[in-house]
Amino acid sequence: MQKKIIITGGCGYIGSHTVVECLENYTRKNGYDEDYVVVSIDSYLNSSASVVENIKKLTGREVKNYDTDLCDYEKTKKIFETESKDSELIGIIHFAALKSVPDSVADPVFYYQNNLNSLLNILKLSKEYKVKNFIFSSSCSVYGNAKELPVSENTPFGVAESPYAYTKQVGERMIIDFAKTSEHQKFVLLRYFNPVGAHVSAQIGEDPKNPPTSLVPIITLTAAGKRDKMHVHGSDYDTRDGSCIRDYIHVSDIAEAHRLAIDYLVKNKETAEQIEIFNLGTGNGVTVLEAIKAFEKVSHQKLNYELGERREGDVVEIYADNQKAKTVLGWIPKYGIEEMMSSAWKWQERNV
Ligand code: NAD
Repeated sequence: MQKKIIITGGCGYIGSHTVVECLENYTRKNGYDEDYVVVSIDSYLNSSASVVENIKKLTGREVKNYDTDLCDYEKTKKIFETESKDSELIGIIHFAALKSVPDSVADPVFYYQNNLNSLLNILKLSKEYKVKNFIFSSSCSVYGNAKELPVSENTPFGVAESPYAYTKQVGERMIIDFAKTSEHQKFVLLRYFNPVGAHVSAQIGEDPKNPPTSLVPIITLTAAGKRDKMHVHGSDYDTRDGSCIRDYIHVSDIAEAHRLAIDYLVKNKETAEQIEIFNLGTGNGVTVLEAIKAFEKVSHQKLNYELGERREGDVVEIYADNQKAKTVLGWIPKYGIEEMMSSAWKWQERNV
């Protein structure tokens, strides 16, 4: 019986780093009974096939991606049928979703349709094919504009500031309700703060199809001359320099947490709660202007930016209490803001 991990959205930004993390670590060399097979399902809605080739080059290992829309239940079921033959499906890591706050404000129907239907299908199939361990990509956006900082996993949901954020609140609730009907499965909900940066090799990184709406790709594209200038969305917030505060976290640290979450569920199958929630952030709040300064310092580039209007859907300030992930999963984020920025710049330079 081959052991397999199914990763949806495995060609996307965080998914590709997690595929690499799993391929590099789930090996005989590292004490596992065999080299686990990693299978991705990604329709390239926001990624491209070249990512699979880059992962193969980087790891020297095979990875298969099914170019399939997870909203298509029958096609996704066929993948489970094929991949479960003579194999044990150890876990599913469900990344696939649309993630842009402004795009979700502009086209909420598409966001609800894609993010929720895909999740429903993958949940149904996880039960049908008896996959015991399920990891879900959630987001700190579930907390909305939290009254007290840092936010812990016990901080209640706030008002969802965008349709995107609401898909994550509803997604978590769907999993909680579903879990009650499927007692043999366990679920980890990972609430990421602001994943940035790129793999140290610069072979994979953030490469969205549409113009990016998150800060760091906008910074690197501007510095590379692919955008004339950038706007800081809001400079009159009640923060130390007027710009929004976020908890930036290196994407490779986020990727590692997924592997640790699977390991945790496998090793603690008798004792782990059926649903565990973890914040994934460094615990440090960094303003947009501080992030820009960190970028300018490590890249030796002067950024052409302007202070602009606030943007609908943005929360003012958020950073994590990450103690639970540290204690329970043994997760220690390794990278600081300057390393995040220099790896993002290295990835951008490679792709100019
Ligand atoms: P991404 O867009 O780079 O990756 C998502 C991947 O899923 C893409 O490759 C896309 O093609 C695929 N996909 C989307 N819908 C699909 C569908 N219906 N069928 C098959 N494939 C589909 O995004 P990312 O930054 O890697 O985010 C991964 C997950 O993490 C998402 O669920 C996102 O909401 C969540 N998240 C991201 C951030 C962030 O800032 N990047 C923060 C918090 C949470």
